[in-house]
Amino acid sequence: MPHRLPMLSLGNAFGEGDLRDFDRRVRNNLPGEEIEYVVELKIDGLAISLWYENGLFVRGTTRGDGEFGEDITTNLRTVKAIPLRIAREIPFLEVRGEAYMSKEAFVKLNQVREETGEQLFANPRNAAAGSLRQLDPKVTASRNLSVYMYGLGYMEGLSVTGHAQGLALLKELGLRVNQQHKVCKDIDEVIEYCQRWQGQRFELPYAIDGLVIKVNSLDQQQRLGATIKSPRWAIAFKFPAEQAITTIKDIIIRVGRTGVLTPTAILEPVQLAGTTVSKATLHNQDIITQKDIRIGDKALVQKAGDIIPEVVQVFPEQREGNEVTFSMPEICPECASPVVREEGQVAHRCTNEYCPAISREGIIHFVSRNAMDIVGLGESIVTQLIRAELVKDPSDLYHLKYEDLIRLERMGARSSQNLLDAIESSKGNSLAQLLFGLGIRHVGERAAKILAQQFGSMQRLMDAEQEDLTIIPEIGPKIAESVVDYFSRQENRS
Ligand SMILES: [Zn+2]
Repeated sequence: MPHRLPMLSLGNAFGEGDLRDFDRRVRNNLPGEEIEYVVELKIDGLAISLWYENGLFVRGTTRGDGEFGEDITTNLRTVKAIPLRIAREIPFLEVRGEAYMSKEAFVKLNQVREETGEQLFANPRNAAAGSLRQLDPKVTASRNLSVYMYGLGYMEGLSVTGHAQGLALLKELGLRVNQQHKVCKDIDEVIEYCQRWQGQRFELPYAIDGLVIKVNSLDQQQRLGATIKSPRWAIAFKFPAEQAITTIKDIIIRVGRTGVLTPTAILEPVQLAGTTVSKATLHNQDIITQKDIRIGDKALVQKAGDIIPEVVQVFPEQREGNEVTFSMPEICPECASPVVREEGQVAHRCTNEYCPAISREGIIHFVSRNAMDIVGLGESIVTQLIRAELVKDPSDLYHLKYEDLIRLERMGARSSQNLLDAIESSKGNSLAQLLFGLGIRHVGERAAKILAQQFGSMQRLMDAEQEDLTIIPEIGPKIAESVVDYFSRQENRS
């Protein structure tokens, strides 16, 4: 799909010096004029363009190569932050912005993918792009994407003189605009604002990779024009990637809720992007093999999308000869059952359906905050309860007695009673929380909410057939199959 006006990409500034050079070029081109800049956060997502005709959303595309974008209208319609109708019936309006995934949604999505053995997304930007290029709009809808709109493209029936005014107009029309933008009267103010966000960005619920600086006046923008590649009136200030070098002390295996074995690097603790990092996920054997990661190696680590620590590369030339290669164990470290790798999957999995790790992780998930929210039931207590054979699955929690708990390590009279109270009060939780807590494959928080809303009771959901599920918008065949399969087992039903 061709864009009516090209969507140019911006030139980059990597520090204060580059910003001052940019300012100098702008002022040389506009001698003697006052210049105001607008500085905005640069959201790490996918650039999109939305068309509104007579106030109605009619088309949405990616930026593509700037001349032609990919038509993703159907998928964008599922994004709640995009209004299908704007506040005014303007004949034609094109708005530009960024579709993105929050840090929280990104972490959750990767957790699920890790558990199901799917390829992980490297950062929220890739996750957002992957979600918008889906063939099935239901999948896009389930991904919790959002947007921030930041610019006017081609328009008819509107006139605007400044960029900041344009942002205010977008907001007035009902489009989502990031409020962390600032009008600056000179480059010093711009630099100060950029430096402030370089330190504060980790507090944001979404990833940013820099800031965008634009000349405010549209008249000045027009006179400055563009080079072949990028406009002369705007520049992107890019944050330096936060990376650090440390040593991989060990590689350990954690068996997850679905039996997937995940290797994790234990690092010599190192400061990275605002926190001390002592572990990095290695995802799976393929990644370890590809990057030739060995125990004892010096490694370059960074946070993917500023969130999850990962190993970028190791330095083979610095090896001393006592580094140890790693390979996935052939038996489960928790139960000694055989480990298999299913055809077409990257994950290794424990074959024992009753692996203690699976039931332990299942119970830990069941009691977690977004599920049944049972306070006081941490990992060590769960492990003790399983070892003492007091609990095999979540339903056993509801049969625990005071005498059972008081005998556990580090459990006093008060904490035992508190835990019993917490278990009791969890009976008042919503159906959605319970459904999510059961840990049915592919049923995340959102799917659990939709299923609870549609069926209203556990009994009705248990009796549902695959077709009753797939007709619900946002419930895809994968979820439907998994739910039916779960409730086809007698032990789950009881
Ligand atoms: Zn096992």
